[in-house]
Amino acid sequence: MAEDGGALPPGATIGILGGGQLGRMLSLAAAELGLKTHIFCPDRESPAFDVAAHTTIAAYDDAAALALFAGAVDVVTYEFENIDVAAAELLEKTCPVRPGPKALAVSQDRLKEKNFLREAGVAVGAYRAAASEEELADALAEIGAPAILKTRRFGYDGKGQARIGAPDEAAAAFESIGRAPAILEALVPFTREVSVIGVRSVTGEVAAYDVTENVHRNHILHTSTVPAQIQPATVEKAREIAARILSALDYVGVIGVELFVVGEGEAETLLVNEIAPRVHNSGHWTQDGCSVSQFQNHIRAVAGWPLGATERHSNAVMTNLIGAEAEAWQGLAAEPGAALHLYGKREVRPGRKMGHVTRLRPRAPAA
Ligand code: AMP
Repeated sequence: MAEDGGALPPGATIGILGGGQLGRMLSLAAAELGLKTHIFCPDRESPAFDVAAHTTIAAYDDAAALALFAGAVDVVTYEFENIDVAAAELLEKTCPVRPGPKALAVSQDRLKEKNFLREAGVAVGAYRAAASEEELADALAEIGAPAILKTRRFGYDGKGQARIGAPDEAAAAFESIGRAPAILEALVPFTREVSVIGVRSVTGEVAAYDVTENVHRNHILHTSTVPAQIQPATVEKAREIAARILSALDYVGVIGVELFVVGEGEAETLLVNEIAPRVHNSGHWTQDGCSVSQFQNHIRAVAGWPLGATERHSNAVMTNLIGAEAEAWQGLAAEPGAALHLYGKREVRPGRKMGHVTRLRPRAPAA
């Protein structure tokens, strides 16, 4: 194990909780640096297993399996945020967990997340807690309709959300999210959705990639385009927001920060929608558009290495291949300038992320 944050040498093993495509691409990036990975995932068919040196198939709450895993690796990281905080704390007794349990606790609960952001001095849209139908009625009276009701926990890709167009829709909305503890958010009249991928090292060094403009289809990310069509000052502001969040969490690793752009031109402002304490789909373009990808920078950070350059050498459009879209792989493989990435998932299902393709365009020289 590394002592006091010292860099793990090539040959060391990074433990990753979660075996999806993010774990797979983290493993590939670790291999670029001569590091090994050990993937812990309950699913036998995990895409990351194909590219990892070691695997554990066990439930995330299997304390014995977690203890063995912690003893077999030099540092633990994760590729999704719904890891039990208790499991992360258990692992931390044996080896460092990066990012730390605080980042997990904050990002897996939308109410805690919004409170944390506000306390860190980061602008967010209006929100109120809504744990019951009565509290929801009060929240709606304060915030007004239209608004979005979201479960506090376990929501992703638009799941666990209901739009409330008028107060008389509140009861049905609460029913539709299973009467789970929720937050009510004012509907933000955004002009664009953007994100920024930030990274912080063990020594507190911070860097951020260029801001990406994101388009969703059916609540799933469809394309990420860089550069985003926003003001240079807005780009800088987004990067500052990422840096502020990273420092406030005493974070180590890559973070994804999703933001709403409100207004146009000089009047543009940013509101943070949510944070993801991991590598992020809207950062996949960095594999081909930058010399050091978000995946390699995450591995560098958690392994205690210096960060790599986050400058982009090309403009890029990343398009997710969802479900049957990945069946077009032969044409995409033959397309000039298209970088194809497939996740090795055996079963095609509607809505399932099967791969992505990044199309590069030359970056105009700086004026
Ligand atoms: P989320 O799961 O919070 O990322 O939300 C998924 C998508 O729903 C976002 O990417 C937005 O397009 C939309 N959305 C979420 N929250 C709001 C909001 N408060 N105002 C407007 N649109 C929202």
